[in-house]
Amino acid sequence: MVNPRSSAQRAQLVFDFSDGSREQVDLLGGKGANLAEMTKLGLPVPPGFTITTEACRYYLAQGEEPQSLRVQVTMALRRLEDQLGRRLGDVQDPLLVSVRSGAKFSMPGMMETVLNVGLNDYSVKGLAEAAKDERFAWDSYRRLVQMFGRTVLDIPGELFEEELSAAKQRAGAGTDVEMPAAELRELVETFKQICAEHSGREFPQDPREQLDMAMRAVFTSWNTERARIYRRRERIPHDLGTAVNICAMVFGNLGDTSGTGVCFTRDPATGKQGAYGDYLVNAQGEDVVSGIRNTLSLEDFARLDPASHAELSQIMRRLETHYRDLCDIEFTVERGKLWMLQTRVGKRTAAAAFRIATQLIDERLITEDEALHRVTGDQLGQLLFPQFDADAERTLLTRGMAASPGAAVGKLVFDSATAVAEAARGENVILCRRETTPDDLAGMVAAAGVLTSRGGKTSHAAVVARGMGRTCVCGAEELDIDAEARTLTVGDNRLAEGDVVSIDGTTGEVFAGTLAVVASPVVNYLELGLDHALAAADADTADVVRAVDRLLRHADRTRRLRVRANADTAEDAGRARVMGAEGIGLCRTEHMFLGDRRVLIERLILAETDGERETALAELLPLQRADFVALLTAMDGLPVTIRLLDPPLHEFLPDRTELAVKVAVARANGGADAADERLLAAVERLHESNPMMGLRGVRLGLMVPGLYSMQVRAITEAAAERLAAGGTPVVEIMVPLVASVMELHLIRDEIDGIVAEVAGNGEGAALHIPIGTMIELPRAALTARRIAEAAEFFSFGTNDLTQTTWGFSRDDVESSIFAAYLDKGVFTVSPFESLDRDGVGALIRTAVAAGRETRPGIKLGVCGEHGGDPDSVHFFHAADLDYVSCSPFRVPVARLESGRAALAAETGDGAL
Ligand code: ADP
Ligand code: MG
Ligand code: MG
Repeated sequence: MVNPRSSAQRAQLVFDFSDGSREQVDLLGGKGANLAEMTKLGLPVPPGFTITTEACRYYLAQGEEPQSLRVQVTMALRRLEDQLGRRLGDVQDPLLVSVRSGAKFSMPGMMETVLNVGLNDYSVKGLAEAAKDERFAWDSYRRLVQMFGRTVLDIPGELFEEELSAAKQRAGAGTDVEMPAAELRELVETFKQICAEHSGREFPQDPREQLDMAMRAVFTSWNTERARIYRRRERIPHDLGTAVNICAMVFGNLGDTSGTGVCFTRDPATGKQGAYGDYLVNAQGEDVVSGIRNTLSLEDFARLDPASHAELSQIMRRLETHYRDLCDIEFTVERGKLWMLQTRVGKRTAAAAFRIATQLIDERLITEDEALHRVTGDQLGQLLFPQFDADAERTLLTRGMAASPGAAVGKLVFDSATAVAEAARGENVILCRRETTPDDLAGMVAAAGVLTSRGGKTSHAAVVARGMGRTCVCGAEELDIDAEARTLTVGDNRLAEGDVVSIDGTTGEVFAGTLAVVASPVVNYLELGLDHALAAADADTADVVRAVDRLLRHADRTRRLRVRANADTAEDAGRARVMGAEGIGLCRTEHMFLGDRRVLIERLILAETDGERETALAELLPLQRADFVALLTAMDGLPVTIRLLDPPLHEFLPDRTELAVKVAVARANGGADAADERLLAAVERLHESNPMMGLRGVRLGLMVPGLYSMQVRAITEAAAERLAAGGTPVVEIMVPLVASVMELHLIRDEIDGIVAEVAGNGEGAALHIPIGTMIELPRAALTARRIAEAAEFFSFGTNDLTQTTWGFSRDDVESSIFAAYLDKGVFTVSPFESLDRDGVGALIRTAVAAGRETRPGIKLGVCGEHGGDPDSVHFFHAADLDYVSCSPFRVPVARLESGRAALAAETGDGAL
């Protein structure tokens, strides 16, 4: 085994900016790699060096830096000093450096940076002399002590802020730039005292000690609570570590010919063409984004300092050409000289992503294939949700986590039953709970949106809401919810049941009152076509719609995976078709037995004689047939996979406890009701302690005589009827929860006969109805070679396959252990959200290979929720499935990601 200690000791742990390149992002972090890249391009970057993420990982694991790091830092520091002809913290004309964090993935605001390292009670004077500016030197020193105190010595930032504003007041200074040198000098003394008092040690005067301590603080900042939370949300692994960049300081706080700014080469919010940025005169570091003074636009900057602006414009063009993408840039002007301090490919909104990608195609900077890489299914998904009207007036109550996108408006209700009742009266309601449990399901279904004060993005509320496309804001911790009193308090606002709120699941915002909601223009486009959508949109929106259309069509041309939808009704099927579905991958028949029809299935369950059973089945048959005719009509010409009944029968019977109570009461009153008694007996008989693994799926087909036969007859007759009517029904019958090929053989014996019988009757003669099975148990995957003997297709039911592979009962574990598992790093994303490639994925690959071995042409698909998850789609492409099936609403997302997956496979770039 490689000893991590000795390998880190030998490794190169420090790279000069002039040594690295952007390919080394794993080792140098994003900031370091891009600083190196800009240096390579010959742009004006202050020199410096990067300490690798490997050094950080070593430090975090061992609690101390590798010995060799100290030596390598010394060497790099001396090279830097020699290059600039100045020494770190020298008493005359000192070199100062910044110590900057920078991980592989940018984590804005999560980790620390310390500026002006190298200043002490002596070098501050040298700096004043060299710059001929006393005020500047003391301003820099107070910034160092403040930043060092807060980030390295862990002293609350407010302590410094309070002293700063007090000093400003004393000096009669409106802003920080009006503070004279003498006041700043005093402030430094105060800041140093704060450091000594609160950290129990003096502010370190030794420049190298400052540097080492700042470096360790950056290492440690990788593991702060907020950094961990951020990584969890962004699915960034916890074990990467951060690099540390040591960069010679340049000064934007050297008077009015200096300043600091940030800019984007295009507008990251809207995607509009043309640079966009802010500049602040006589300022350092993050002053420009901190709102301490009003900033200038790039146009103002051009008037103020035309030469620097011209150079910056040229560099922006260089960077866009080099990165061939939107760049996000930090720069500083020191006495009229422009310096580049950072660049990266900029984050952008979903709309901007689509617009910029197509702009770059038109500018002939990227190909259509590359453009497809620049947008994601998640971004497309965001564009599909209704939005609040951007122009509407709003009153923000609070902000929670954006758990499931969309814009929902409704009356507050505090329990599931009220939600159901109010919704039944046609009211839009927002179900507001501290947290939700599976008992709240009915209320969540009925509500327009779900709002909770507890729990994160993997809480029950979040997961369930996302699953059913319900808008959800969760973990809005400022909300004080009193379910008993039916009130909600936040700050000074107190709302009661029936008060209207608007929640934005895309941003996490919660508003008082009604905000106008507008349909997504992209959905308009999907539903009504491009021309229609363009006609209804303003110029910016039209541009987004056009971009989506272009890239989605390119994805369709590129992808190999077919995309189907999970749909149970003709209405869903119609919607799915509009979204571009190429068939139905899963029609769940259990939904057809609810509502009025529940009594029919109850009768079947209660049947004691063959006669009773046959009567019940005979009543169900025409209803089922009519359902299937409607479905096949809506999907005419496209494949429709119908799953035979799957859930345990008790789901169709009354609640056990309620019924038992009712019967007990009746008995006590001497008036036992025979029907209820009989029902209770059936409920008791069917009760299971673990229904998920009990009498369900194919087991029902084998244990309940006539049930599957009736369904198969209804399907076949429906297909024959469609055929007779001149339609093109393409139907497939799917058997759920098969574990052994014998189960499938037994069922096939029964259903093949019925298909043959019905099809043989005239109209149906031309029908071929393939019969296949779901693969949703590990045993099915492991014995797929045998199962394929009896199955014409496999459809991976990845929800159940995940439950059974992990031994997780989803409803139980998601709320109780997933938050902890994500925190402990057992997984970085819930395996129900994104397919577990190593475990569940291995079973799928096994079954794919085995199935094809037995039956080379076997059709392979997936019908779990994972079919609409971007990352999982990439896996299904790589696993060589024929299609994915997901909810109608996710179909465009799956189309886009299937196209991206095909490209990724071609270019060998599996990353999203
Ligand atoms: P973040 O990761 O939060 O962007 P940075 O490491 O980029 O933090 O630094 C914080 C601020 O300090 C930025 O505004 C940056 O431009 C500025 N800064 C960093 N290094 C220097 C330097 N050597 N000279 C001048 N300003 C710097
Ligand atoms: Mg920062
Ligand atoms: Mg920065």
